[in-house]
Amino acid sequence: MRLALWGLLLFGVMQIVVSVVVFVAISTWLGDQVDDNLLLTATQVSSVLYDPEDAQNPLDIADVQLQLADNNVATQSFLTDKLFFVRLIDLATGEVLVSSAAYDVPVSANQLSGTTFETVRFAEEDDLDEVRVYTLHLSYAPQFALQAGVSLEETREIERDVLRILLVLLAFTGTMAPLSGWFLANRALVPIRATTQTAATIHETDLSRRIDLNSSEVELAQLVQTFNAMLDRIEGAFQRQKQFTADAAHELRTPLSIMQTGLEVTLSKERDAQTYQNALMSVQEEVQRLTALANTLLRLARTDNHDLMLERQTVDLSLLVDMVVEQFSARADDKQILLRLEIAPNLRVEGDEDRLIQVVFNLLDNALKYTPDGGEVRVVAMNDGDAVAIRVEDSGQGIPVEEQARIFDRFYRLDSARSRVEGGFGLGLAIAKRVVTLHGGTIEVHNKISGGAVFTVRLPL
Ligand code: ADP
Repeated sequence: MRLALWGLLLFGVMQIVVSVVVFVAISTWLGDQVDDNLLLTATQVSSVLYDPEDAQNPLDIADVQLQLADNNVATQSFLTDKLFFVRLIDLATGEVLVSSAAYDVPVSANQLSGTTFETVRFAEEDDLDEVRVYTLHLSYAPQFALQAGVSLEETREIERDVLRILLVLLAFTGTMAPLSGWFLANRALVPIRATTQTAATIHETDLSRRIDLNSSEVELAQLVQTFNAMLDRIEGAFQRQKQFTADAAHELRTPLSIMQTGLEVTLSKERDAQTYQNALMSVQEEVQRLTALANTLLRLARTDNHDLMLERQTVDLSLLVDMVVEQFSARADDKQILLRLEIAPNLRVEGDEDRLIQVVFNLLDNALKYTPDGGEVRVVAMNDGDAVAIRVEDSGQGIPVEEQARIFDRFYRLDSARSRVEGGFGLGLAIAKRVVTLHGGTIEVHNKISGGAVFTVRLPL
């Protein structure tokens, strides 16, 4: 409705402006036309009346009478059959001496005083007559003036016709503008309405629905595409969220049920002090595990939160890697694992130091975890083109090629790792990947030919 009214307003204003311009132009042109003809006629007649033989009295009234009565002046005129006259007036008295037609147009003071063109309005019988008069003061006979005049009735009639046509056009636009506005608005709104309806049926329980791209108008295709792409992303995120919650719940349940069973068995009858102590120690172990899980989840949630941007600063990776490796030396000694370091000095990147420590820590933790006693772990850090590469190699059993893509997923663990006591939650690599990605870097894994996994982190300089 609003669009229709706007259409009416805009078209209406435009049409009115155009009509006014057209009308003014036509009526000016008509007026000019009348004046030109009167001027021409008066000039021609004045030259016909001039008698060069008689210098004393070049204008002979009798001759004028003859000429005008003969009507031959009028017949030359463009307005033969209209109310038209040519007449001679006496400037001293204002008296009409000779006239070609019995047309009683009054002589005004203006005409006597020298005004050339004048529109005279006067009552004739019962209607108002409008006459255009041209007064030509004769240079060869200064006491007389020759006048040509014509009724404007014809001109006014033409003007009225033009006005009528313009009004009809205006009425046409007046009806067509809102109709076309209505039509266009509907054309634009119908597909939007359809799209809106589909969008309204999409619920969080059924995020798989999409708006049909083919049925929507071309103009809307981009909107629909964007909308569908957004739904894709939301669905993906929602799916991952669901998976994550399910996995997290599962991880929480295992230690809880171990504790539950342990406590039930212990409490089922009277025990000695040693048994209670053992039971409590086992509970303590599980509580530690739960605490570790809670902490890891918290960290993960933090890296997920885009608002919590990285606290970027210049980080010396050479020092950072060295420092993290140092923390593992005792553990390596315990397992008689040889820790080899090849760290180039002054490797600097812009990044969040705490999070980068976490990445190196997780990689080394895994390397030591999955390398059997007496094995070897090698850490290399160096410049690699426009990036710094950190490589952690171990001498464990490596990661099957088909699993390599998935170990960065949350809670994903290889079967061999699941059964292990020291196995983590399957979150370490997910966190590492997230942090590296936030830094604009990459993390990859491959196996050494000699066995063992190689993790490579690349951070842009
Ligand atoms: P976790 O805390 O269980 O170690 P990660 O996300 O760090 O979780 O690792 C995911 C899985 O990838 C591990 O459970 C393990 O199966 C496998 N993995 C990670 N690092 C290594 C490695 N260096 N050698 C062999 N397997 C590894």
